[in-house]
Amino acid sequence: MEVPDDPPVECPVCETAYDSVSVHDEGVMVNLLDNDRYRRVCFEPTTRRDRSVMRFYHHTHEQTDSAGDATADSEPGG
Ligand SMILES: [Zn+2]
Repeated sequence: MEVPDDPPVECPVCETAYDSVSVHDEGVMVNLLDNDRYRRVCFEPTTRRDRSVMRFYHHTHEQTDSAGDATADSEPGG
């Protein structure tokens, strides 16, 4: 697995801390439905050595929970 030479501190997509970042230059399948470690992966198209690549930013469950999601806190009825 490739990693970037200059990884940012936060994910540039959702501006949240991430656990790891990987670089891909070909097709890849992502399935997080049953992943105990990672909750979300953000994708950033970029270039590396004049080639188009995708950076994958992996967020753990803890990192995504700490981001806060107040909009999903409403309950029906009441
Ligand atoms: Zn992200």
